[in-house]
Amino acid sequence: LKMDTSTKNTIEQKTKTHPCFNSGASDYARVHLPVAPKCNISCNYCLRKYDCPNESRPGVTTEVLSPEEAYERYLEVDKQVPNISVVGIAGPGDALANFEETKKTLQLIKESNPDITFCISTNGLMLPVYANELVELGVSHVTVTMNAIDPTIGAQVYKYVEYMGVKYKGEQAASILMANQMAGIKLLTDKGIICKVNIVMLKGINEKHIPEVVKKVKELGGTITNIMQLIPVKGSAFQDLPLVSNKEIMDMRKTCGETMSQMYHCKQCRADAIGTLGNDRSIEFSSCKGKCGS
Ligand code: SF4
Ligand code: SF4
Repeated sequence: LKMDTSTKNTIEQKTKTHPCFNSGASDYARVHLPVAPKCNISCNYCLRKYDCPNESRPGVTTEVLSPEEAYERYLEVDKQVPNISVVGIAGPGDALANFEETKKTLQLIKESNPDITFCISTNGLMLPVYANELVELGVSHVTVTMNAIDPTIGAQVYKYVEYMGVKYKGEQAASILMANQMAGIKLLTDKGIICKVNIVMLKGINEKHIPEVVKKVKELGGTITNIMQLIPVKGSAFQDLPLVSNKEIMDMRKTCGETMSQMYHCKQCRADAIGTLGNDRSIEFSSCKGKCGS
Protein backbone atom coordinates (compact mmCIF):
# COMPACT_ATOMS: atom_id res chain seq x y z
CA LEU A 1 0.00 0.00 0.00
CA LYS A 2 1.68 3.23 -1.12
CA MET A 3 1.02 6.55 0.47
CA ASP A 4 -0.89 9.20 -1.51
CA THR A 5 0.82 12.46 -2.40
CA SER A 6 -1.10 14.63 0.04
CA THR A 7 -0.17 12.38 3.00
CA LYS A 8 3.43 12.45 1.82
CA ASN A 9 3.38 16.25 1.68
CA THR A 10 1.81 16.42 5.12
CA ILE A 11 4.54 14.21 6.59
CA GLU A 12 7.23 16.32 4.89
CA GLN A 13 5.64 19.44 6.36
CA LYS A 14 5.49 17.84 9.81
CA THR A 15 9.17 16.94 9.60
CA LYS A 16 10.00 20.61 8.96
CA THR A 17 8.41 21.61 12.28
CA HIS A 18 9.70 18.68 14.34
CA PRO A 19 12.60 19.97 16.47
CA CYS A 20 14.22 16.52 16.73
CA PHE A 21 14.07 15.59 13.08
CA ASN A 22 15.05 19.05 11.86
CA SER A 23 17.72 20.97 13.74
CA GLY A 24 16.47 24.15 12.04
CA ALA A 25 13.13 23.81 13.86
CA SER A 26 14.50 24.74 17.28
CA ASP A 27 11.74 27.33 17.83
CA TYR A 28 9.15 24.59 17.84
CA ALA A 29 8.25 22.79 21.03
CA ARG A 30 7.21 19.27 21.88
CA VAL A 31 5.34 17.73 24.76
CA HIS A 32 6.10 14.22 25.97
CA LEU A 33 3.14 12.66 27.73
CA PRO A 34 4.24 10.01 30.27
CA VAL A 35 1.43 7.48 29.81
CA ALA A 36 3.58 4.40 29.24
CA PRO A 37 5.08 3.03 32.49
CA LYS A 38 5.52 -0.64 31.58
CA CYS A 39 8.31 -2.12 29.54
CA ASN A 40 8.54 -5.51 27.87
CA ILE A 41 12.33 -5.78 27.76
CA SER A 42 15.16 -5.05 30.16
CA CYS A 43 18.11 -3.04 28.90
CA ASN A 44 21.20 -3.28 31.07
CA TYR A 45 21.52 0.52 31.12
CA CYS A 46 18.01 1.23 32.32
CA LEU A 47 16.46 1.74 35.70
CA ARG A 48 13.09 3.33 35.45
CA LYS A 49 11.91 5.40 38.30
CA TYR A 50 9.58 8.29 38.82
CA ASP A 51 11.80 10.86 40.25
CA CYS A 52 12.62 14.46 40.86
CA PRO A 53 12.31 16.62 37.76
CA ASN A 54 15.83 17.94 38.19
CA GLU A 55 17.19 14.75 36.79
CA SER A 56 17.11 14.70 33.03
CA ARG A 57 17.38 11.54 31.04
CA PRO A 58 15.11 9.15 29.15
CA GLY A 59 12.92 7.00 31.35
CA VAL A 60 12.51 9.64 34.01
CA THR A 61 9.22 11.31 34.79
CA THR A 62 7.73 12.94 37.87
CA GLU A 63 4.47 11.05 37.51
CA VAL A 64 2.65 8.72 35.18
CA LEU A 65 -0.54 10.09 33.67
CA SER A 66 -3.70 8.31 32.54
CA PRO A 67 -4.74 9.04 28.95
CA GLU A 68 -7.40 11.46 30.22
CA GLU A 69 -4.90 13.28 32.43
CA ALA A 70 -2.44 13.36 29.55
CA TYR A 71 -5.09 14.94 27.37
CA GLU A 72 -5.72 17.60 30.06
CA ARG A 73 -2.00 18.25 30.28
CA TYR A 74 -1.76 18.63 26.53
CA LEU A 75 -4.57 21.23 26.56
CA GLU A 76 -2.89 23.13 29.38
CA VAL A 77 0.53 23.02 27.72
CA ASP A 78 -0.91 24.10 24.40
CA LYS A 79 -2.36 27.20 26.10
CA GLN A 80 0.86 28.16 27.85
CA VAL A 81 3.74 27.04 25.67
CA PRO A 82 4.05 28.67 22.28
CA ASN A 83 4.64 26.68 19.10
CA ILE A 84 3.80 23.18 20.28
CA SER A 85 4.16 21.18 17.10
CA VAL A 86 4.72 17.64 18.39
CA VAL A 87 3.08 15.32 20.88
CA GLY A 88 5.34 12.43 21.79
CA ILE A 89 4.94 9.27 23.83
CA ALA A 90 8.38 8.38 25.13
CA GLY A 91 7.88 6.22 28.19
CA PRO A 92 8.90 6.20 30.96
CA GLY A 93 8.64 2.58 29.77
CA ASP A 94 7.80 1.61 26.21
CA ALA A 95 5.03 3.29 24.20
CA LEU A 96 3.96 0.00 22.64
CA ALA A 97 4.13 -2.08 25.82
CA ASN A 98 1.31 0.26 26.91
CA PHE A 99 -0.41 0.40 23.58
CA GLU A 100 -3.96 0.95 24.86
CA GLU A 101 -2.87 4.01 26.86
CA THR A 102 -0.80 5.36 23.99
CA LYS A 103 -3.66 4.87 21.55
CA LYS A 104 -6.30 6.43 23.80
CA THR A 105 -4.10 9.46 24.47
CA LEU A 106 -3.45 10.08 20.79
CA GLN A 107 -7.12 9.59 19.90
CA LEU A 108 -8.23 12.16 22.48
CA ILE A 109 -5.72 14.73 21.24
CA LYS A 110 -6.47 14.05 17.60
CA GLU A 111 -10.14 14.89 18.17
CA SER A 112 -9.21 18.36 19.39
CA ASN A 113 -6.25 18.95 17.08
CA PRO A 114 -6.16 16.77 13.95
CA ASP A 115 -3.07 18.55 12.59
CA ILE A 116 -0.63 18.03 15.42
CA THR A 117 2.38 15.76 14.78
CA PHE A 118 2.39 12.45 16.64
CA CYS A 119 5.73 10.92 17.49
CA ILE A 120 6.45 7.81 19.53
CA SER A 121 9.60 6.13 20.72
CA THR A 122 9.89 2.41 21.28
CA ASN A 123 12.29 -0.47 21.71
CA GLY A 124 10.57 -1.93 18.64
CA LEU A 125 9.60 -5.31 20.08
CA MET A 126 5.89 -4.84 19.32
CA LEU A 127 6.28 -2.81 16.13
CA PRO A 128 5.27 -5.59 13.71
CA VAL A 129 2.06 -6.02 15.71
CA TYR A 130 1.15 -2.32 15.92
CA ALA A 131 2.71 -0.69 12.84
CA ASN A 132 -0.57 -0.54 10.92
CA GLU A 133 -2.49 0.84 13.86
CA LEU A 134 0.15 3.52 14.38
CA VAL A 135 -0.27 4.62 10.79
CA GLU A 136 -4.06 4.70 11.20
CA LEU A 137 -3.71 6.76 14.39
CA GLY A 138 -1.76 9.34 12.39
CA VAL A 139 1.67 8.73 13.92
CA SER A 140 4.13 10.17 11.40
CA HIS A 141 7.45 9.90 13.27
CA VAL A 142 8.79 6.87 15.13
CA THR A 143 12.05 6.42 17.01
CA VAL A 144 13.33 2.90 17.56
CA THR A 145 16.27 2.23 19.85
CA MET A 146 18.29 -0.52 18.20
CA ASN A 147 21.72 -1.07 19.69
CA ALA A 148 22.83 -4.07 17.66
CA ILE A 149 21.82 -6.34 14.80
CA ASP A 150 24.00 -9.23 15.93
CA PRO A 151 22.44 -11.44 18.66
CA THR A 152 25.81 -12.18 20.29
CA ILE A 153 26.24 -8.44 20.85
CA GLY A 154 22.59 -7.89 21.71
CA ALA A 155 22.79 -10.61 24.36
CA GLN A 156 25.22 -8.37 26.26
CA VAL A 157 22.86 -5.40 26.14
CA TYR A 158 19.53 -6.94 27.18
CA LYS A 159 18.80 -8.89 30.32
CA TYR A 160 15.53 -10.30 29.00
CA VAL A 161 12.74 -9.83 26.47
CA GLU A 162 9.11 -10.66 27.26
CA TYR A 163 7.27 -11.55 24.13
CA MET A 164 3.79 -13.02 23.78
CA GLY A 165 3.78 -14.12 27.40
CA VAL A 166 7.20 -15.81 27.35
CA LYS A 167 10.38 -14.47 28.93
CA TYR A 168 13.51 -14.99 26.82
CA LYS A 169 17.12 -14.43 27.76
CA GLY A 170 20.51 -14.26 26.09
CA GLU A 171 20.88 -14.57 22.34
CA GLN A 172 17.37 -15.87 21.92
CA ALA A 173 15.98 -12.72 23.51
CA ALA A 174 18.22 -10.52 21.39
CA SER A 175 17.28 -12.39 18.19
CA ILE A 176 13.55 -11.91 18.74
CA LEU A 177 13.97 -8.26 19.60
CA MET A 178 16.20 -7.50 16.61
CA ALA A 179 14.06 -9.39 14.12
CA ASN A 180 11.03 -7.38 15.27
CA GLN A 181 12.90 -4.07 15.27
CA MET A 182 14.05 -4.59 11.71
CA ALA A 183 10.72 -5.91 10.43
CA GLY A 184 8.93 -3.08 12.22
CA ILE A 185 11.13 -0.34 10.78
CA LYS A 186 10.64 -1.75 7.28
CA LEU A 187 6.86 -1.92 7.71
CA LEU A 188 6.78 1.73 8.78
CA THR A 189 9.14 3.14 6.17
CA ASP A 190 7.27 1.26 3.43
CA LYS A 191 4.24 3.28 4.49
CA GLY A 192 6.15 6.55 4.41
CA ILE A 193 6.56 6.94 8.17
CA ILE A 194 9.75 8.75 9.17
CA CYS A 195 11.96 6.53 11.31
CA LYS A 196 14.85 7.57 13.48
CA VAL A 197 17.03 4.94 15.11
CA ASN A 198 18.72 5.61 18.42
CA ILE A 199 21.90 3.70 19.12
CA VAL A 200 23.50 3.84 22.56
CA MET A 201 27.25 3.57 22.15
CA LEU A 202 28.46 1.08 24.75
CA LYS A 203 32.15 0.82 25.49
CA GLY A 204 33.55 -2.60 24.64
CA ILE A 205 30.11 -3.90 23.61
CA ASN A 206 28.72 -2.41 20.41
CA GLU A 207 31.30 0.32 19.64
CA LYS A 208 32.79 -1.38 16.60
CA HIS A 209 29.46 -2.79 15.46
CA ILE A 210 27.64 0.55 15.14
CA PRO A 211 28.53 1.21 11.47
CA GLU A 212 26.86 -2.10 10.57
CA VAL A 213 23.73 -1.14 12.49
CA VAL A 214 23.63 2.19 10.65
CA LYS A 215 24.00 0.47 7.26
CA LYS A 216 21.10 -1.80 8.13
CA VAL A 217 18.95 1.19 9.14
CA LYS A 218 19.65 2.80 5.79
CA GLU A 219 18.73 -0.42 4.00
CA LEU A 220 15.46 -0.52 5.94
CA GLY A 221 14.57 2.99 4.82
CA GLY A 222 15.32 4.89 8.05
CA THR A 223 15.83 8.66 7.83
CA ILE A 224 18.38 9.41 10.51
CA THR A 225 20.40 7.67 13.21
CA ASN A 226 21.14 9.13 16.61
CA ILE A 227 24.30 7.72 18.16
CA MET A 228 24.13 8.59 21.83
CA GLN A 229 26.27 8.43 24.89
CA LEU A 230 25.35 6.08 27.70
CA ILE A 231 23.99 7.92 30.72
CA PRO A 232 25.24 5.74 33.58
CA VAL A 233 22.45 5.03 36.03
CA LYS A 234 23.25 3.94 39.57
CA GLY A 235 21.74 0.55 40.26
CA SER A 236 21.60 -0.50 36.61
CA ALA A 237 23.72 -3.39 35.33
CA PHE A 238 25.87 -0.94 33.34
CA GLN A 239 26.42 1.50 36.20
CA ASP A 240 30.18 1.01 36.02
CA LEU A 241 30.59 0.67 32.28
CA PRO A 242 33.30 3.10 31.17
CA LEU A 243 31.95 5.95 29.07
CA VAL A 244 32.87 6.67 25.51
CA SER A 245 34.29 10.17 25.15
CA ASN A 246 32.59 13.00 23.26
CA LYS A 247 35.29 12.67 20.66
CA GLU A 248 34.57 8.96 20.20
CA ILE A 249 30.87 9.74 19.74
CA MET A 250 31.60 12.54 17.26
CA ASP A 251 34.06 10.35 15.32
CA MET A 252 31.51 7.56 15.11
CA ARG A 253 28.82 9.99 13.91
CA LYS A 254 31.21 11.27 11.32
CA THR A 255 32.03 7.78 10.07
CA CYS A 256 28.35 6.83 9.98
CA GLY A 257 27.47 10.16 8.38
CA GLU A 258 28.93 8.75 5.20
CA THR A 259 26.13 6.19 5.23
CA MET A 260 23.21 8.38 6.31
CA SER A 261 22.11 11.52 8.19
CA GLN A 262 23.19 11.79 11.80
CA MET A 263 21.51 13.58 14.68
CA TYR A 264 23.83 15.97 16.53
CA HIS A 265 21.39 17.84 18.74
CA CYS A 266 19.56 15.19 20.79
CA LYS A 267 19.07 16.19 24.41
CA GLN A 268 18.21 12.68 25.68
CA CYS A 269 15.01 14.07 27.12
CA ARG A 270 12.79 13.00 29.96
CA ALA A 271 9.57 11.06 29.40
CA ASP A 272 7.63 14.16 30.48
CA ALA A 273 9.69 16.84 28.73
CA ILE A 274 7.85 19.99 27.65
CA GLY A 275 8.98 22.94 25.55
CA THR A 276 11.73 23.59 23.06
CA LEU A 277 14.73 21.25 23.14
CA GLY A 278 16.78 24.05 24.68
CA ASN A 279 14.37 24.87 27.52
CA ASP A 280 12.61 22.13 29.46
CA ARG A 281 9.49 23.44 31.19
CA SER A 282 8.17 20.14 32.52
CA ILE A 283 8.58 21.26 36.13
CA GLU A 284 5.93 24.00 35.64
CA PHE A 285 3.36 21.38 34.75
CA SER A 286 4.27 18.63 37.23
CA SER A 287 2.21 18.25 40.38
CA CYS A 288 5.26 18.73 42.65
CA LYS A 289 6.33 21.96 40.87
CA GLY A 290 9.89 21.24 42.05
CA LYS A 291 8.96 21.98 45.68
CA CYS A 292 11.57 19.59 47.08
CA GLY A 293 14.08 22.23 46.08
CA SER A 294 16.76 19.75 45.10
FE1 SF4 B 1 14.33 0.91 29.84
FE2 SF4 B 1 13.58 1.75 27.45
FE3 SF4 B 1 15.11 -0.39 27.70
FE4 SF4 B 1 12.57 -0.50 28.42
S1 SF4 B 1 13.35 -0.19 26.37
S2 SF4 B 1 14.31 -1.32 29.58
S3 SF4 B 1 12.26 1.56 29.27
S4 SF4 B 1 15.67 1.73 28.22
FE1 SF4 C 1 14.21 14.88 20.55
FE2 SF4 C 1 16.30 13.52 21.50
FE3 SF4 C 1 14.62 14.75 23.14
FE4 SF4 C 1 13.78 12.65 21.79
S1 SF4 C 1 15.33 12.65 23.36
S2 SF4 C 1 12.66 14.57 22.14
S3 SF4 C 1 14.93 12.90 19.89
S4 SF4 C 1 15.94 15.72 21.61
